[in-house]
Amino acid sequence: MSDPRQHIMPVYRPPEEAFERGDGVRLTTTDGKTYLDFIAGIAVSALGHSHPAMVAALQEQAGKLWHTSNMFRVPAGEELARKMCARTFADRVFFTNSGTEAVECALKTARKYHWAKGDTDRYEIVTFSGAFHGRSLGAINAGGNPRYLEGFGPALPGFAQVEYGDHEALEAAVTDKTAAVFVEPVQGEGGVRAIPEQCLTGLRKLCDERGALLIFDEIQCGMGRTGQLFAYEWAENAQPDIMCVAKGVGGGFPFGACLTTEETGSVMQPGSHGSTYGGNPLAMAVGNVVWDIIADDAFLENVRRVGGTVAQGLKSLADTHPDKVDGVTGKGLLTGLRLKALPKPVQNACRDKGLLVGVAGNNVLRLAPPLIIEDSDVREAVNIMDAALSDWEIAT
Ligand SMILES: *Cc1c(COP(=O)(O)O)cnc(C)c1O
Repeated sequence: MSDPRQHIMPVYRPPEEAFERGDGVRLTTTDGKTYLDFIAGIAVSALGHSHPAMVAALQEQAGKLWHTSNMFRVPAGEELARKMCARTFADRVFFTNSGTEAVECALKTARKYHWAKGDTDRYEIVTFSGAFHGRSLGAINAGGNPRYLEGFGPALPGFAQVEYGDHEALEAAVTDKTAAVFVEPVQGEGGVRAIPEQCLTGLRKLCDERGALLIFDEIQCGMGRTGQLFAYEWAENAQPDIMCVAKGVGGGFPFGACLTTEETGSVMQPGSHGSTYGGNPLAMAVGNVVWDIIADDAFLENVRRVGGTVAQGLKSLADTHPDKVDGVTGKGLLTGLRLKALPKPVQNACRDKGLLVGVAGNNVLRLAPPLIIEDSDVREAVNIMDAALSDWEIAT
């Protein structure tokens, strides 16, 4: 029999399992095996699978109107933008279909902001090693990961990268050429590293002193994942000028957004940017429901509480397996176990035992469960990881 995957461009290497249904924190395969989902489509399915309110909103909208393009008003998008701006630093929102597109809008807005002020040489974007901002040409140049850049032509000018945590290099890199410093408050793909809160505050100060904008990529760490609605809220005086969101904001319906202050965003005028599908009625119907559930203090309080249970569980695994686990990393429900060897075998062993987890960086087993997990789910996941770590014959 031919491989059913043969016509899929093989940029991913998925395991054999194919899922047919999702319900809450569980996924079921076509042959009836059920898994506990602690990766949630990479921090996307924030409310789990088949959340009744999301299903109802999508079904209702599907019977009314799918698409008109941004040639016409989308009232549900106006409503969601209003709510986003009431609850964050932002005054303007551009809706996209993905995180990468939110990043493109952010980079373009930052450059245009300085250009509009006559500062046409200020186009450099300063990023950090370990960054991940998506897969468009702009986003891979911002991310700076050589593996993702290789083979795709010369690196684009206008990007500079400093070593994560190197304050002196950062001070030197932010100059009168710098349009913006662009950073994930918690690095996702780079190894689930949370930037210390005082460093976010310091970044804001540095950008203000040097006349650069500050852009946060909260595509993975935002929308409740760290226990605040957005991760920058953990820090004092660390509001960005521009923020990218996606993943959790749609809870599985693909959409993202670029949020800006009035001053920064006002440079984007008719013709500056666009998207045929961005913020279409289906996305906005789901987006409003997801927002109303997650942007609620009691919901976020519960994320912080269950995040504490996860942290405790991971700490206990680190204590039980000191020969294999280097430490615990991350924040809230975006966490990981730093392992002393490549994490793939542990990820595979977890899956064989019914638990889905991710990997990040070189050596991190990544957890990004739905935000609705309960303590009993955490106990089950920790027990499975414990067994997988015990069985693991670590290559030394
Ligand atoms: C996933 C991700 C992106 C890219 O989002 P896509 O929806 O895959 O385009 C960008 N930045 C961060 C931090 C991400 O986690």
